[in-house]
Amino acid sequence: MLLNDHIAVITGAASPRGIGRATAELFLEHGATVAVLDRDREALEATCRELGERAHAYVCDVTDWESVQGAIESVVARLGVPHTLVNNAGITQPKGLLEIEEGDFDAVMAVNLKGAFFCSKALMPHLTRAGRGSIVNMSSVSAERGGGIFGGPHYSAAKSGMLGLMRALARNHAADGIRVNAVAPGFIETDITAGKLTEAQHRQIRESIPMQRTGRPLDVARICLFLASELSEYVTGEVIDVNGGMHI
Ligand code: NAD
Repeated sequence: MLLNDHIAVITGAASPRGIGRATAELFLEHGATVAVLDRDREALEATCRELGERAHAYVCDVTDWESVQGAIESVVARLGVPHTLVNNAGITQPKGLLEIEEGDFDAVMAVNLKGAFFCSKALMPHLTRAGRGSIVNMSSVSAERGGGIFGGPHYSAAKSGMLGLMRALARNHAADGIRVNAVAPGFIETDITAGKLTEAQHRQIRESIPMQRTGRPLDVARICLFLASELSEYVTGEVIDVNGGMHI
């Protein structure tokens, strides 16, 4: 049990097959109390019912400052000051540069990058007062090597932005006892990726991965657990790739 007496906020954790949901499950297994923030009320309520009494649902749109601030203040009032924030909510669009309209660009930036900024900003005063905390930004292999099939250039830019944000916060808040890191998943089987490929495309992707398999949400959740727990207490400003060796 790595997270006894631990309170975690995980955004975008309502999707039943998603990375956020797997992270919430693993944190609960390790003793944490988890606040799940998601804009999808129906999925959120179903998820929290399934996850049990230590999972608490907060309807929240991470692109809306008032919604984020309200959710974080409610979490603090009800559960106490969180120890960990996982900025996981994200959307992607499989579009090339010439297809991306201004509204597409803004939407992808808003959920992935501005959402992480808003959640970090709302929580930081509480973490600073508590003198401890861990923030994990869910970036992507797309930040490091271009979008591939699922993410357009705007997605790559947003996920790179999350790395810049992570490094700045890590440096600025390290002396306050707050660690900030990122996880960069490769191809993980979730609703973002499900059903969008032919079997031939899927095989091609598997064969391009040195470990010859796509990732599972649990592969990513385990890294979030490491970054939330004391196992990583001297780690800040880092990106951990979870991609079966795609950078080799
Ligand atoms: P998913 O679609 O299963 O889950 C995303 C969740 O975010 C959903 O529950 C959705 O309701 C929520 N969400 C979307 N917009 C929101 C908003 N404005 N406010 C609050 N919640 C919102 O996706 P996933 O594959 O589990 O992805 C999770 C994260 O991992 C994302 O940030 C994604 O970019 C990143 N990622 C995924 C992969 C992959 O291969 N699946 C690879 C690299 C990075």
